[in-house]
Amino acid sequence: MKKLALHWKILLGMVFGVVFALIMTNFSFGKEFIQDWIKPFGKIFINSLKLIAIPLILAALIKGVSDLKDISKLSKMGGRTIVIYIFTTVLAVSIGLLLVNVVKPGNSISEETRTEMVKNYSSNTTKYKETAKKQKESGPLQALEDLVPQNIFAAATSNRNMLQVIFFAVFFGIGLILIPEEKGKTVKNFFDGFNEVILKMVDLIMLAAPYGVFALLAALVVESPSLDLFKALGWYALTVVFGLILMIVVYNILVFLLTRKKPSFFMKGISPAQLLAFSTSSSAATLPVTLERVTEHLGVEEEVASFVLPIGATINMDGTSLYQAVAAVFIAQAFGMDLTLGTQLGIIATATLASIGSAAVPGAGMVMLVGVLGYAGIPEAGLALIFAVDRPLDMCRTVVNVTGDAAVSMIVAKSVDKLGEPHVKDWDDNYSKK
Ligand code: ASP
Repeated sequence: MKKLALHWKILLGMVFGVVFALIMTNFSFGKEFIQDWIKPFGKIFINSLKLIAIPLILAALIKGVSDLKDISKLSKMGGRTIVIYIFTTVLAVSIGLLLVNVVKPGNSISEETRTEMVKNYSSNTTKYKETAKKQKESGPLQALEDLVPQNIFAAATSNRNMLQVIFFAVFFGIGLILIPEEKGKTVKNFFDGFNEVILKMVDLIMLAAPYGVFALLAALVVESPSLDLFKALGWYALTVVFGLILMIVVYNILVFLLTRKKPSFFMKGISPAQLLAFSTSSSAATLPVTLERVTEHLGVEEEVASFVLPIGATINMDGTSLYQAVAAVFIAQAFGMDLTLGTQLGIIATATLASIGSAAVPGAGMVMLVGVLGYAGIPEAGLALIFAVDRPLDMCRTVVNVTGDAAVSMIVAKSVDKLGEPHVKDWDDNYSKK
């Protein structure tokens, strides 16, 4: 067992989790047993990852920015990062739109199923109504306004304000570059060391990953809604999943064309982060591991990874944007609405912005979908239709979100000559050896 590479151990944990839950559902006490005695371990595992996400972003970004040593390098890398991120997001939305228009999954939903689902949904609408109201009331510059926190400690206490923490960290890093080296040395050394400690904590947490995902998946299986709903939504879910797979193919092609690294190299290097993204449905929770894999196994130098990845985890969500496009059009189709080309082009813009605004936590993409629906005049009640399959799709889209960040970090690293050889050459993971 010790010899097995980490991604296999995680995969085994997932499979055992599902099998265990399926067996337990045959017993009357099964569901309760899993909820009382297994689920808490999954929660502890996710909490421990989230626990280090904010300090990691702070330390990694301050280190990343100050390592660049001058502002022109920062703006060059920052500019490239943002342009590539937006490019991949727009590409993802376009793929989603194309697929949903070809497959037309919404047309297969019958009037009856639709009414039934919308009726069952009422208990879950409050969260979305609030978001919709807020989005309607906010002005065009709201997003910009939200970027700047009034209080960094308040921002850091919520996992939903990661963009504010990023703003502070980059700003702090810029300040650090601009003061004389002599004076900044101690602060810089502090954050360098802090960063190392956090990465070591990631290693330690990852030792528990196979058990953590076992608990997460077992709890998910016993709590998921009935299969009937899934059947009605099959085509929709398949369209999203197919689009997501296409995106993974696109990343591999881009990475190969732009960095000459083979798909097998890329996928093997990033797979533990993908599996974790799948089990936790959170790019933020996965970030520590993404960072570790990209630097140790994919050869991206730390100063690039620690700059590109935290930003990516927060704003680059290609899986989410693709899903939002498919979901919006699917709902429109289910309600018998015809969307004009103009509206569909508008969906590209709104889904891109909505994915940037989505927090890197489970379910955030669906909350932000409200904005896309509002823009296109699609009934919000349609969220009811997709609610039942949202969690599995969330798991899948988070994998793509994380893979996209990793691919872009390699591309940016190559473009600034910071893509080297991985530190860990054999594919045995390094966790057990440390
Ligand atoms: N769960 C996704 C993430 O963390 C966001 C979403 O809901 O689409 O990347």
